[in-house]
Amino acid sequence: MTGDLGPLVRYEGVSIGYGARVVLSGIDLAIPEGSFLGIVGPNGSGKTTFLKSVLGLLPPLAGRIERRAGRRLRVGYVPQRQMLDPIYPLRVRDIVLMGLYREIGMLRWPRRVHHEKVGSALEAAGILDLAGENYRDLTGGQQLRTQNARALVGDPELLVLDEPTNDMDLVGEKSIMDLVAELHDRKGRTVLLVSHMLHVVCRYVRELALISGGTFVCGPIDEIFTSERLSGVYGIPVRVGEVGGQRVVLAGGPGGG
Ligand code: ADP
Repeated sequence: MTGDLGPLVRYEGVSIGYGARVVLSGIDLAIPEGSFLGIVGPNGSGKTTFLKSVLGLLPPLAGRIERRAGRRLRVGYVPQRQMLDPIYPLRVRDIVLMGLYREIGMLRWPRRVHHEKVGSALEAAGILDLAGENYRDLTGGQQLRTQNARALVGDPELLVLDEPTNDMDLVGEKSIMDLVAELHDRKGRTVLLVSHMLHVVCRYVRELALISGGTFVCGPIDEIFTSERLSGVYGIPVRVGEVGGQRVVLAGGPGGG
């Protein structure tokens, strides 16, 4: 899948942060096409900062970030929920249509094909019945579904998700994550997922980056998603086990191993 083109993004000894404030340093990482990378760490550790850097919204403070040359990727981005309050009243279908701006072209009217794509994305996200509703009137979970539909509508080659299932019940969470997994598995799309939901992360991602105390460790999920490492990152015992062939995770309780 990657061919000879090299990774989509490569970090070499990179530090990122804001002005004089270094949030993360020593990042060495390659993100090949078709990866499914999870990013996990306590609040304020730098997960969103890292996503902004991958998206090219934040220049590195030190080191090198190389991006694959050539045409620009189609990117779908679900930002954190607190960044999503629109200033203007917008309907759900308008917000999802925004995910097609690049395809429609600036200052042009959407055509039938675009409205059809919006309909399919709304349906896939389970909110077709909310298409005409005002986004502001929705519950948190419904707003997030709308954002997921917006990120997915343009058939992104790189999908960047910052807590995409917060405020969702288990059914909502599973339906969104299955949609993302399908995009990854069937189309070989690249996915970056930040989530506090460790049970979601360990079920779906293939590689994992653990962020804490300004450091960044990354590797295959089996190597990184261990009781020892997670307990170290969160500062409380975290146990990793298996039920019915699936990884499970338990926070607290006696012992960290
Ligand atoms: P996380 O996503 O892991 O919760 P963030 O990446 O949002 O963490 O934040 C990492 C650190 O960077 C925090 O200490 C936060 O206060 C700081 N930070 C985030 N955004 C900015 C900004 N625009 N300017 C200065 N500092 C910021």
